[in-house]
Amino acid sequence: MHTGDEYRMKIIVTGGAGFIGSSVVREALLHKDVEVLNIDCLTYAGNLNSLDSCRGHKNYSFDKVDICDREKLHHVFARYQPDIVMHLAAESHVDRSIDSPGVFLNTNILGTFNLLEEACIHFKSLSGAKREKFRFHHISTDEVYGDLAGTNNLFTEEMAYSPSSPYAASKAASDHLVRAWGRTYDLPIIVTNCSNNYGPYHFPEKLIPHTILNALSGKEIPIYGSGNQIRDWLYVDDHARALMIVALDGKVGETYNIGGNNEIQNIEVVKKICNILDGLISKKMNDITSFSGLITFVKDRPGHDVRYAINAKKIKKDLGWEPIENFETGILKTVKWYL
Ligand code: NAD
Repeated sequence: MHTGDEYRMKIIVTGGAGFIGSSVVREALLHKDVEVLNIDCLTYAGNLNSLDSCRGHKNYSFDKVDICDREKLHHVFARYQPDIVMHLAAESHVDRSIDSPGVFLNTNILGTFNLLEEACIHFKSLSGAKREKFRFHHISTDEVYGDLAGTNNLFTEEMAYSPSSPYAASKAASDHLVRAWGRTYDLPIIVTNCSNNYGPYHFPEKLIPHTILNALSGKEIPIYGSGNQIRDWLYVDDHARALMIVALDGKVGETYNIGGNNEIQNIEVVKKICNILDGLISKKMNDITSFSGLITFVKDRPGHDVRYAINAKKIKKDLGWEPIENFETGILKTVKWYL
């Protein structure tokens, strides 16, 4: 589906003040015929400064809404009359889900349920072209597939779910709800499952920004276990571009896996960052000669999956998307942004 000049596509982005959501908002506003309403309740992870470049844009608005507040959501749908919902709002940090799983179940499962219910009410009220166009795009993670055995296997869209952490289990549950609402209530849904993202505006608790910021302040850089965990890293703006393509042109009922073809062990990620910083910063704190001297191995996270890796052939074949950045180019941009 392509947006025509005569029509302005109205998109609700949930969680648009978050790391990936803010990239989606910035990407969406590059389309002249797209309007965005960002709804976000601004948890610790939400930061409106990530959207400084959008402030005052004629096609952008923000509403502070908690997706657990059904009544407020109802008003948002009734007032805004969206063509597309891109659902990113979530609790997203695995360590926090281990310490306090309750909020993950509330936001990721019940919040998604609320959105689905309100999207259904809205969808049923539509007719003609507006009804044809409507999409509910649920943004999820590759962590729902669980630990990947061996080195050759890749996550395909047909893979059975086997989540390990409370975070992954809550996202898996939300994916199931979305597909059930598609099947049972004919809500036009699309699901995407993506690998680990990195890039500017990432909240400092995650591996890459945590490494950069600790190194810069001369603090230890903690690594879980031996650091042998493998993740498939994707530059966040590549993900946002993929999500817009899926939202506008993806096929109803389909799932698309999104990945960066960049499988790297955590320890290698950290060493690469240290090497880049060594090249960019000559004067280091705490008498170290290389930032890698700050690397400290700590007790592994319980239930830590060893390997995630995405097969992203379907989205390339069906929708022509592939990442622009490789890990070398993306991580250099990221480190420079944090500097
Ligand atoms: P994030 O934690 O940076 O941002 C989440 C946003 O959602 C924040 O702005 C927060 O304020 C908002 N939010 C949380 N609870 C809310 C609620 N109850 N109501 C309204 N807003 C609420 O997360 P992220 O890394 O940008 O991830 C976004 C989505 O993408 C999530 O659904 C996540 O599961 C998925 N995802 C993330 C990654 C990754 O590597 N970060 C990879 C694949 C998929």
